[in-house]
Amino acid sequence: MEGSVQTEQALLKELCRLRERVNALEQLVARQQATLAETMSKQAALVLERERLQREQAEAQAKEFALLEASQRMDEFLSIASHELRTPLTTINGNIQLARRHLHLLPQPDVVQESYSENLGIVLELLNRAEHQVRIQNRLVSDLLDVSRIQSNRLNLHLHYCDLLEIVRETVAAQRAATPLHLITLTITDIMTIPIMADGDRVGQVISNYLTNALKYSPTSQPVEVSVVIIDGTRARVSVSDKGAGLSVEEQAHLWQRFYRVPGITAQSDSGVGLGLGLYICRTIIELHQGQVGVESTPGQGSTFWFTLPIAP
Ligand code: ADP
Repeated sequence: MEGSVQTEQALLKELCRLRERVNALEQLVARQQATLAETMSKQAALVLERERLQREQAEAQAKEFALLEASQRMDEFLSIASHELRTPLTTINGNIQLARRHLHLLPQPDVVQESYSENLGIVLELLNRAEHQVRIQNRLVSDLLDVSRIQSNRLNLHLHYCDLLEIVRETVAAQRAATPLHLITLTITDIMTIPIMADGDRVGQVISNYLTNALKYSPTSQPVEVSVVIIDGTRARVSVSDKGAGLSVEEQAHLWQRFYRVPGITAQSDSGVGLGLGLYICRTIIELHQGQVGVESTPGQGSTFWFTLPIAP
């Protein structure tokens, strides 16, 4: 009897211990389930986040592709438009020159009436104006052609030894002849010649562009100054300074970009509308020659545009 009571107590004890273990196991399972649920919800969130990122990446890629396609179409358009515009301009220019030659070949009447000379003067003036406009249009079309060449890596340089000083002198002389009313000074100290390995026509184009801008954006009463100096015996620096409107630091940062025009700056002379391509082309030409471009400017006081080129050994 006593033995069966002991057995019963031992069984009860064992039962309690087992219940405690079951409880502990149940708690462990509950905790693990909670951890599992948390991990699964984190994973689900990660999957959702990854899907969102993939969607965003796909959208960004689609936008980039569309932009690239638009840019390629724009370059194709530039190339076709500039070629198509150049042909009639060449014809118009040829006809102006022909008309001028025919006028000079006209037989002189025995008695030159006043009205005859007057009319001849008017026709010559009209031809001059037409020629001026064709020159402006030609410059725009050349800029468009150059930009389309740059975009498709077709701006080829014809490099040879040349004298930078000669290029500067010739360009300044041509500009003086084209704008006789605007004073252009040229300062070159103690240098006889500056040999460079370059495409002389393209370097001349850069100087001419700086000059036309300086003349275009400054009053006729103020001189434009061109100077050439040697830096460290290894580089030459050409600068063109004007006393025009000047440019803020913010504007200077965008100047060399394609199609950028400073808002609010108007051309002083009758030089036609610009496309904001000249400085972009200048920068490309100079960088293709391993040179650098830059500008120093103060609003209200004027600007100095410069470029450097390595001196040839
Ligand atoms: P654009 O054909 O319009 O003159 P550029 O690329 O040569 O094109 O010049 C870009 C812009 O920079 C011009 O539209 C003008 O606003 C500004 N700019 C260029 N040169 C000067 C200057 N010497 N003084 C003031 N602004 C200038």
